[in-house]
Amino acid sequence: MPDFAHMTFDELLRPEGYQCSCGRFHGCTLRKLLIGRGVIRQLPGLLKEAGIRRPYLVMDRNTKKAAGDQIKSILDEAGIPYGEYCFPQERVEPDEFAVGQVTMNLPTECDWVMAIGGGSINDVCKMLCRASGMKLITCGTAPSMDGYASNSSSMIRAGVKVTIYSVCPTIIVADTEIMAQAPMRMLQSGMGDVVAKYISVCDWRISHVINGEYYCEDIAQMMRTAVKKCVDSAEGYAKRDPDAVQAVVEGLILSGMGMAYAQVSRPASGLEHYFSHIWEMRAFDAGKRPDFHGIQVGVGTLLVLRLYEKLRSEKPDRQKALAHAAAFDFDEWCGWMKKIFPNSCDELIALEKQVKKHDPALHARRLETILEHWDEIMKIVDDELPAREDLEKVYRTIGEPMLPDEIGISLQETREALYASQEIRDKYICSRLLWDLGLIDEYADYLIDGVEKAEAEAKA
Ligand SMILES: [Zn+2]
Ligand SMILES: [Zn+2]
Repeated sequence: MPDFAHMTFDELLRPEGYQCSCGRFHGCTLRKLLIGRGVIRQLPGLLKEAGIRRPYLVMDRNTKKAAGDQIKSILDEAGIPYGEYCFPQERVEPDEFAVGQVTMNLPTECDWVMAIGGGSINDVCKMLCRASGMKLITCGTAPSMDGYASNSSSMIRAGVKVTIYSVCPTIIVADTEIMAQAPMRMLQSGMGDVVAKYISVCDWRISHVINGEYYCEDIAQMMRTAVKKCVDSAEGYAKRDPDAVQAVVEGLILSGMGMAYAQVSRPASGLEHYFSHIWEMRAFDAGKRPDFHGIQVGVGTLLVLRLYEKLRSEKPDRQKALAHAAAFDFDEWCGWMKKIFPNSCDELIALEKQVKKHDPALHARRLETILEHWDEIMKIVDDELPAREDLEKVYRTIGEPMLPDEIGISLQETREALYASQEIRDKYICSRLLWDLGLIDEYADYLIDGVEKAEAEAKA
């Protein structure tokens, strides 16, 4: 069995990949990761080695200051020609307009795209590479999310948030002296995105038991290693120590590779990500700008820990669960969906008709599996999840937001997101387990009570 958790990046990135005992082939198209203090100065040699003659540098005004200007002078000194485009807008939204901007300004003599930035700039450059067939070299400027090494772009298309499979960078350059100087909110966002993996892996393993869904223990172990690297570095990270930043960036890249390896988002996204997806969708619907992905996900992680915490002392009740599922009213549910998702309810109602998440017969079958494997499910929860107080200490160390009201999310929006999380994909997560057990209403009340108290205490 390949022991991904203990491999070096060079081993993980070998071109022939790995045939795993889980039955899948694991590999990614990232070929080189250059990480450490001051590694940006090695760019001329790196470009030469990769045969890159004239890169197209893409940045925005912030990342130009953070790294772009320095990269340009390094290339100038080495006599390497390049094309460039700097987004004039204050904040780049990853949409059709931004993809159009980088495309229309692409000098035809350039042979590679060089993304200088974090989330949005990378996502947009990946789209340009998908469309043009050019290869991508990414120079990261902030440890803000785990998408550096992934092969998808998180985009806004026709005003709707979508994930589009695009390309994975061929080379990633992560200069930790540069990344350590990113805004603290971005550093916190990266930590939030990575501690989320406690929940993602737990949800994934539970679905494997209940639904027989594909699962790979080697990838799960890779994710655990990624989280540990980050959590253990919290103190140095809070002080912007480049070595601690390096550990977190490695965790983020490992996490992105875990996704690419599994070919599904399971290793990196569970109910905690769904809180964020729904808050984001609701913000777009209301014409508001959502908070950073990893900040929302970090808050979501603590919410899900509260739910699993309570579930540990639960005694499942077959009759209660069956009665709850029998009371499901499709028409009433459709009315609620229209209210919560005014712009995407048709699609989501069609999803329910297709996969029948709330169908009583399918529910009864799942319920029997849950009851039969209850001890095993509880062992997974014990194995995977940290004590909430311990994780909260990590959050406090780096000033990471912990409660919904710290990021402008109300109790009502938190409750709605818990219910709505069952509906946006066909993915079995903690909220669906609670629904199956007939406990979703009780747990929603419990969650909101707990959050309300914690928010009041935090203000006192
Ligand atoms: Zn595997
Ligand atoms: Zn994420």
